[in-house]
Amino acid sequence: MTSRPLLILDFDRTLFSEVFYERFVRLMDEHNLLPESVVEDLLVTIKDPEQTIDLLTPLKKAGVDTDKALSIAGNELTHESVLYADVPEFLERHTKYRIIILTTGVDLSWQEAKLSLCPELKDFKKILIYENKGRYILDNLKRQSDKVSLSDLEGEWFDRIVLVDDRVDALIPLIGTPSVELWQVERPGAKYQRTQDHEGIHHVTSLKEIHIA
Ligand SMILES: [Mg+2]
Repeated sequence: MTSRPLLILDFDRTLFSEVFYERFVRLMDEHNLLPESVVEDLLVTIKDPEQTIDLLTPLKKAGVDTDKALSIAGNELTHESVLYADVPEFLERHTKYRIIILTTGVDLSWQEAKLSLCPELKDFKKILIYENKGRYILDNLKRQSDKVSLSDLEGEWFDRIVLVDDRVDALIPLIGTPSVELWQVERPGAKYQRTQDHEGIHHVTSLKEIHIA
């Protein structure tokens, strides 16, 4: 049995940059793919922590070929507009770990579209879900003697699970769970800001600060 940890990474705002949304809307605007009023509405929506952002639906409503829109984004957005600058170094530092990406979305096709813009992540298993991540992990947690796993990773066992997320609400359900280590990455100026510290969650401001034992 392996003794390496399973490293579960959130996608949006942990790996995938918050600046993407505005850059994408402005790019669609530059290519005149969206009506001006829609562009203005979207620029407001993307700043609102209460709103779930899905930029495929407005494109479809405007009659835009979404494959074409994504191809424009893939060609014209810089690397820094898609993944945070600290992601490559972090992945490089954890090549010995089993890494999977666990992402929540209202519209999974939008999640898949964003993932398609990240060739750096193509080799990692992705699990796309609708529910709270912490709850999902709890519901799918498997134990065998002192090893842990998820039901999606049948046959693979790990000495522990490390979850990295930008949102504490994803981490809170797992506080106190044996063999589960929790890291919240709260980047400066991020849309979601925690209002209090939580015992059992490591808080950092960049992936550079994450050091897994
Ligand atoms: Mg996130």
